[in-house]
Amino acid sequence: MQTTVKLLALFLMILIFANETDAQFKWPNGKKAAVVFTYDDGLDCHLDVAVPQLDEFGFKGTFFCTGSSQSLYNRTEEWREIAKNGHELGNHTLFHPCDGNIHDWIKPEYDLNSYTLEQILAELKTANTLLKAIDGKTERTFGYTCSNFIAGGEDFSDDIEELFVGARCDAPIPETMDGYNVYKTPSKGVQNFTSEELIAYANEAKDKGTIAIFMFHSVGGGYLNVGAEEHRALLKYIEENKDDFFTGTFMETMKYIKEKLKD
Ligand SMILES: [Zn+2]
Repeated sequence: MQTTVKLLALFLMILIFANETDAQFKWPNGKKAAVVFTYDDGLDCHLDVAVPQLDEFGFKGTFFCTGSSQSLYNRTEEWREIAKNGHELGNHTLFHPCDGNIHDWIKPEYDLNSYTLEQILAELKTANTLLKAIDGKTERTFGYTCSNFIAGGEDFSDDIEELFVGARCDAPIPETMDGYNVYKTPSKGVQNFTSEELIAYANEAKDKGTIAIFMFHSVGGGYLNVGAEEHRALLKYIEENKDDFFTGTFMETMKYIKEKLKD
């Protein structure tokens, strides 16, 4: 009898273990983690530095362009061209509104506290129209400006689901992919990071089996900068370790995660 109980317990343990293994999130082709390169605000240095380096290593970036970006106006054809080549143009609002209580450089008219829910949603829809006019795409992702998601006191992260495939926010690298929210994804603003720090961020995701989303602003000179050499060193490292890292645009990666979490 005791042996039967022991055997039953062992059988149950095997079952539980097998279930846990099955439930584990899997990246394509046995890769250990995902890495996503995102760039904010639609800057000239993206076209001049980031894109050529991404192209050199065969990676595709996601560029969250603000509708009011000067570069988007001055160099529209070049932005259209990079989208044609597989890079992603993401929505980053029209006017870059943020929480003025946190960010004192925000003008009163672009303070999210004085926005209404309707206002931010209308702005996001119009930004989608503008980007569609550039790249012809009807599917879009979103990068919360300043990672803020409260407008006029209301959390609008639920209301954007019909507008976007996913939305990038900021938070530490997730410990697990269970319950991953593609509409409020963690990411890291990596300004002034050294090559080693950039690589360490990717490796943290590898150790956890989850995802590292890099949030770049200027590359190769400018505000919230990462040096061109450091940026290139990161891409080179990911390329050399491509057996470990799944790479895709933010949209491709969010679609993959959504599909996997359905299973
Ligand atoms: Zn921004």
